Amino acid sequence: MSTINSDPECLFCRIVAGEIPAERLYEDDEIIAFRDVNPQAPFHCLVIPRSHIATLNDVTQDQAELVGRLLVVAARIAAEHGHAQDGYRVAMNANRHGGQSVYHIHLHVLAGRQMGWPPG
Ligand code: 5GP
Ligand code: ZN
Repeated sequence: MSTINSDPECLFCRIVAGEIPAERLYEDDEIIAFRDVNPQAPFHCLVIPRSHIATLNDVTQDQAELVGRLLVVAARIAAEHGHAQDGYRVAMNANRHGGQSVYHIHLHVLAGRQMGWPPG
């Protein structure tokens, strides 16, 4: 198993640690997924590594498999909630122009309505 880094100041590290409650939809030894507190679609969950990685810019080559697994978990959760056929949006925001507000990488999984393109 890969090393789990934790930042005590980080909101999502605190969710990983169970210090802040979240409705968990999936967990394994490297990844957890939970519902977004402010959903932007009928289904909106976040898929995150347990280990603290601040932004996509900070992902290293040896974390490539972990980051790939975030996508696999996202697809599995979307399917489990009945959204595989109609489809869904997966997004990761990076830094200010990307609209990132929590600096612990996370995939958004949005489903249950027609998504717009391009995103705002
Ligand atoms: P970002 O803006 O960084 O791409 O996404 C951060 C997401 O985290 C937002 O969609 C926001 O609603 C969600 N979020 C912020 N604080 C909490 C929290 O305490 N619990 C949960 N479940 N989601 C949160
Ligand atoms: Zn963190």
